[in-house]
Amino acid sequence: MHRYALIGKRLGHSWSQRWFEAKFKSLGLSDCCYQLHEMASLDGLKQWVLHDAIQGFNVTVPYKQQIIPLLDELDTTASAIGAVNCVTVEDGRLVGHNTDAEAFLWSLQHTGWVFRQAFVLGTGGAARAVAFALRQLQVPHLFVSRTPHGNDQIGYRELSSAIGLQPTLIVNATPVGMYPNVDETPLDLSSFNVHLSSFCLYDLTYNPSPTRLMRDAASLGASVKDGLEMLHRQADLSWSLFSHE
Ligand code: NAP
Repeated sequence: MHRYALIGKRLGHSWSQRWFEAKFKSLGLSDCCYQLHEMASLDGLKQWVLHDAIQGFNVTVPYKQQIIPLLDELDTTASAIGAVNCVTVEDGRLVGHNTDAEAFLWSLQHTGWVFRQAFVLGTGGAARAVAFALRQLQVPHLFVSRTPHGNDQIGYRELSSAIGLQPTLIVNATPVGMYPNVDETPLDLSSFNVHLSSFCLYDLTYNPSPTRLMRDAASLGASVKDGLEMLHRQADLSWSLFSHE
């Protein structure tokens, strides 16, 4: 049996197992399985990988950055981003990759949206992957954080005035609004002083869809997109790495 997995603290929201099981079925791979493996911490990670003969695994909240010191190697993209969402196991060595950035870039380019600047909510692993993609598109961007520090971060209260009149992309790269906390939103758009018709909102959340943030933004005229296409693309790219396609 070829074993693959997703690790994270809580995985009740995840559709990754469903995606991989459908993929294995479509490829006729009855000797492959993909499990959800909740971990309260990353203690014992490598022992679990070796003991259960895991051949590759994905990484989600909140471990995309924390996992880096536990890996034997990072590919150049994961190293540049500073976050890992995919790990291959090669002769017992854990090698970190990032398929989130390429998946986000691919999905964003298919929207046809026009924007001149971007704001990325959150400063975690997914936010770093999004920023990497925006750098490739040469779109100026800032992170929005609850505890901003450095030149590239602002606080939520500053966002409305920072936006100005430019066509703008906002990316939600926080877990706020994700199942089961579906009534939460990272951004109170009622306090916004700007017209949202020239806005695009990409919420990396896919469960639920729409999120409260997407509903609020759409009702104010923004174009909105959820994270499902990105999820599928990053899983496809992960499978290419797992299977050495
Ligand atoms: P993470 O490393 O835990 O980081 C999330 C960031 O969100 C934190 O750095 C924090 O930034 C901010 N945050 C956390 N809790 C918050 C709260 N209560 N209020 C406001 N901000 C909060 O998580 P991640 O791995 O980056 O993932 C973030 C989200 O993206 C998750 O929902 C994940 O499922 C989703 N995601 C989706 C895909 C996809 O394929 N669709 C891929 C990757 C990730 P500050 O402390 O700076 O505020």
